[in-house]
Amino acid sequence: SQRVVLITGCSSGIGLRIAVLLAKDEQKRYHVIATMRDLKKKDKLVQAAGDAFGNTLTLQALDVCSDDSVRQCISRVKDRHIDILINNAGVGLLGPVESISLDQMKMVFETNFFGTVRMIKEIMPDMKRRRAGHIIVMSSVMGMQGVVFNDVYTASKFAIEGFCESLAVQLLKFNVKLSLIEPGPVHTEFEAKMMEEVAKMEFPGADADTVRYFKDVYMPSSIDIFEAMGQTPDDIAKCTKKVIESSNPRFRNLTNSLYTPIVAMKYADETGGLSVHTFYNLLFNFGSLMHITMNILKCLTCSCLRRRTISPD
Ligand code: NAD
Repeated sequence: SQRVVLITGCSSGIGLRIAVLLAKDEQKRYHVIATMRDLKKKDKLVQAAGDAFGNTLTLQALDVCSDDSVRQCISRVKDRHIDILINNAGVGLLGPVESISLDQMKMVFETNFFGTVRMIKEIMPDMKRRRAGHIIVMSSVMGMQGVVFNDVYTASKFAIEGFCESLAVQLLKFNVKLSLIEPGPVHTEFEAKMMEEVAKMEFPGADADTVRYFKDVYMPSSIDIFEAMGQTPDDIAKCTKKVIESSNPRFRNLTNSLYTPIVAMKYADETGGLSVHTFYNLLFNFGSLMHITMNILKCLTCSCLRRRTISPD
């Protein structure tokens, strides 16, 4: 029988690609409930799903920030039976902390942290009762390592990692699996949406030096890194499918081997100095951050560090 998969944030990016990949499974092993906040944005998904739409893929409205919306959506699922929950919906936030309001910061936590927690709270009790199920959370490399000018986004992903790390222990007792997917940069609308936001930003409250470091030092390097090292949403979908299909899925799943040294650095020096100073030197002491980063990462990516990733193929 088919496994029921519910995915949040399917109107674009990684969520859309996971929904389509699973719905088009050749053996038709999945029934995908693809959800999105606003069903008016369904066209891209419907088109990509092709024949699967209405068969192995159905659509439902779901806003992870609304109790009512989540409850209504789940109550429409037959017997509330969900085998695999994929928490994908998320928002980014970039810029100097001084110029971001607390309300903007709270919105990021509302979506990335409380949105995921709300979904898990609604669906986990049924999984525990059945002693079966798999919860997937789309985290990020930034769920394990802070990145300059991504302070609040990073904090929201750290928060969900801490939540999941704690929950995973208990869930093991109930035979419910919990896995984090931790991509590096991925080419999606996420990137474009953030660039758009940054172009509109006026940086109230931030001093001229900080604004300059953000706009003229960080931003160009970040764009270069996305270009040089970014994966596709399809890569992340394939990694996620592998995790779902693994008989013994790992808790943490980095998807980009070029990023494993960043994590290794953190574990290599428990004082945190190595990470902070390496990022400082990358940002402020080199002309071309992208070039240097690429080379350092390539040098550091030895086979023992590479083993920790899950690859798309
Ligand atoms: P995206 O912007 O294309 O997709 C995010 C989706 O979440 C969108 O469809 C958006 O409408 C939806 N969403 C936002 N708020 C929502 C809400 N309240 N309720 C329901 N849906 C909501 O970007 P993406 O890159 O596909 O992001 C998907 C996930 O991957 C996010 O959790 C993101 O943090 C994570 N991620 C992205 C990258 C990257 O570089 N793009 C890297 C690592 C992790």
